[in-house]
Amino acid sequence: MKVGYVYHPIYLKHDTGQHVENASRLEAVVSHLEQSGLKQQLELIKPRAASVEELALVHDRQHVTHVQDMAEKGGGWLDSDTVMSASSYEVATYAAGGVISATESVIDGEVGSAFALVRPPGHHATPQRAMGFCLFNNIAIAAKYVLAKYELERTLIIDFDVHHGNGTQDTFYDNPQVLYISSHQSPYYPGTGSVGEIGSGVAKGTTVNIPLPAGCGDAEYRAVFQQIIVPAARRFKPQLILVSAGYDAHWADGLAYMQVSVSGFSQMVKIIKGLADELCGGRLVFSLEGGYNLTTLAASIEATFKVLLDNTEVEDPLGQSPHSFEAPNIAPLIKAIKEIHSVN
Ligand SMILES: [Zn+2]
Repeated sequence: MKVGYVYHPIYLKHDTGQHVENASRLEAVVSHLEQSGLKQQLELIKPRAASVEELALVHDRQHVTHVQDMAEKGGGWLDSDTVMSASSYEVATYAAGGVISATESVIDGEVGSAFALVRPPGHHATPQRAMGFCLFNNIAIAAKYVLAKYELERTLIIDFDVHHGNGTQDTFYDNPQVLYISSHQSPYYPGTGSVGEIGSGVAKGTTVNIPLPAGCGDAEYRAVFQQIIVPAARRFKPQLILVSAGYDAHWADGLAYMQVSVSGFSQMVKIIKGLADELCGGRLVFSLEGGYNLTTLAASIEATFKVLLDNTEVEDPLGQSPHSFEAPNIAPLIKAIKEIHSVN
């Protein structure tokens, strides 16, 4: 099956100045895909702008209007670390629309799987507000959109960005149709995502948080995926898997303190692809979240595409972490999470 990618130069127009989340991230990814020859093996999916009604599937109208007004005024700061420019409202509608387009292409069978290379990222944006570099919650909007349009009953969102996707959790906290599983560094920004946050009401158990201590690397993530994420996904039986793909758990990424390598990311993607093949006819959509070291971001996305293309060779330009401190023992944490969620 063909592997699709969403990209459009409009994503470079969300001008954040000297901010760490800037256009050079996507420029690095796309030029790397061109140079490696991988781009020709992929199917370009054209993004469209999400409508206000589609943004409002997740967000309060006041939040949408606020971002719109801010753009009309030429941009500014939405919170202490989220900045936008005059073009950012339009770009953000294309980021949400891009994930919708990718998901539609997969469900309609035009491609087998897809990766939406979009910015601004989305998983911190809550129904009420922008935060953490995110304006609108792209993956949550796409999930809500396809649940309604295709009458799906169960969508799984796996979020391996190093930060907890608080906005996605908030959106689906009481919605049993979406299983949200997040692995993230803890304690860390944004402070949410504890083991005890498991969803509410009829959705109790459909939020699975895996807060990991700093210093976790490939082996710890593999254990988390194999022992928690795989059995939880099998029990839920999703009809579609969406992934909040942030690559800031890489050891060379400046925004967090994890020790994952490019090979480690490719292992995680392999497990996720295996789940999609086993549980939902391969229907799998990645959406870009974080990842701030340009070299490792580009290499990790290349590795992701290779796994989706069933190409097993991984190019890892930086290799394993050179830091020699001891990895934390997360066995008790895994055991506790398995107990809380009755996962075997
Ligand atoms: Zn992140």
